[in-house]
Amino acid sequence: MRRISLKLKLTLLYTFFMALLTCAALAILFSLSSREVLTSVQSKLERRVQESAEEVSWRNGEVRVDSDFYSVTRDVYLSLYNEDMYFMYGRLPHGFSTQPEFSDGELRTIRDGNLEWYVYDMSVRLSSGDVYYIRGVTSVTNAEESFSVTIRFAMFILPLMVAATAVIGYRFTRRTLLPVRQITETVQEIRADADLSRRIALPEGRGKQRDEIYVLADTFDGMLSELEDVFEREKRFTSDVSHELRTPVSVILAQCGALMEEESLEPEVREQIGLIERKARGMAEMISQLLFLSRADQGRQPLQRERVNISELTEMTAEEQQMLAESDGRGVRIVCKIQENIFADVDETLYIRLLVNLISNAVRYSHENGEVKVGLRKEEDVAAGYVMDYGTGISADALPHIWERFYRADQSRSERQHSGLGLSMVKWIAEAHGGSVSVRSREGAGSMFLFRIPLEAADETENEEKSEKN
Ligand code: ADP
Repeated sequence: MRRISLKLKLTLLYTFFMALLTCAALAILFSLSSREVLTSVQSKLERRVQESAEEVSWRNGEVRVDSDFYSVTRDVYLSLYNEDMYFMYGRLPHGFSTQPEFSDGELRTIRDGNLEWYVYDMSVRLSSGDVYYIRGVTSVTNAEESFSVTIRFAMFILPLMVAATAVIGYRFTRRTLLPVRQITETVQEIRADADLSRRIALPEGRGKQRDEIYVLADTFDGMLSELEDVFEREKRFTSDVSHELRTPVSVILAQCGALMEEESLEPEVREQIGLIERKARGMAEMISQLLFLSRADQGRQPLQRERVNISELTEMTAEEQQMLAESDGRGVRIVCKIQENIFADVDETLYIRLLVNLISNAVRYSHENGEVKVGLRKEEDVAAGYVMDYGTGISADALPHIWERFYRADQSRSERQHSGLGLSMVKWIAEAHGGSVSVRSREGAGSMFLFRIPLEAADETENEEKSEKN
């Protein structure tokens, strides 16, 4: 299922609650049904008529009404009649033309064409002893209409408010979560390029607010600075140690060489010196690999790319490795399947190093009398090569780690002169040429290392070369 973003989740939450509120508001409005509204209209009518009794009086031998009697308060029209239904004072609403019989104290609904009216009559006995009738009339249609206008207005405005909440909520959440995206992108870039010098560095404006996300980004940046320091110190340490060890190891090797030339040496002593020499040579190799990688880390390992016939170079390296393989007496054979005359822009020394590391591993991890295949062919604009063996293979657990420095799948072999740096170099060399390296392996069945190197250097390198020539 597609992952729902936090942005969308929060927006849905706002909108859901707003919709809930809207439904509740509409439900309340509807529950105040038209009958309830009309009941309040009826009671207003009754009250108005009852109050108006005070505005009618007997003065100077005739019936009189106050000026208030004529005013239309709360939509109620008042009129005064004598006992014979003779209209004396007051006002009647426009459209009210029927003249129903009096019914004292009873509220009635009178329909007149399209219009509906509430009529309430009340008798008053004046000081003269005569009985008069006050009639109050109010429109039912008006009351219903004002109610339905309110409902219609609510039906329009409330969904609009839900939509506005969704839009504003989404924009607000997006703005708030923007720095989170920045943090994620920076961390992803750091992982992809292994470049610890990058920082999230949220813009200054946000800093003033110093909200939780800003503090998180700041903490990340602090942690990255510390990590970068640690890595820098580690690289410098490796580089310094390798430099320091180089001289004593060379001295040991030179002294061993000089001693071995001594003819009077006891065979036992000669053997012991031979062992020291082999170990020292292993150390010298490891130091040179360490120096190579630390130079590469610091960007101080330049590529001297030139157009080379890599078919010949591969063939030649494989032959040299064949001679070495013969000398260890395990009978491993190297078989080549190389397409002729492939030319590529490569650093010759580094290309040989890549091949040597792969082929020597293949020979080392082959069974006795095993076969190692070395292949190379042109595929569009890349040279695709492989080194394959039918030896021990690599377990699925170990496979993702073999490119790591000092990683050795089989620790029991550590007494041999293996540093666990060879494949790190292979990977660096392939990638520095703009290529890649990968592996397929099955434990017990063997391994196949594939590398791809572009035939032509990327533009920038070409330009550099051109400018150098000029
Ligand atoms: P090492 O000097 O130990 O060979 P590498 O970096 O060259 O270091 O290789 C790392 C590990 O990968 C080795 O220790 C070994 O376990 C495994 N490996 C490399 N190449 C092969 C191969 N052809 N067959 C089996 N295992 C291999």
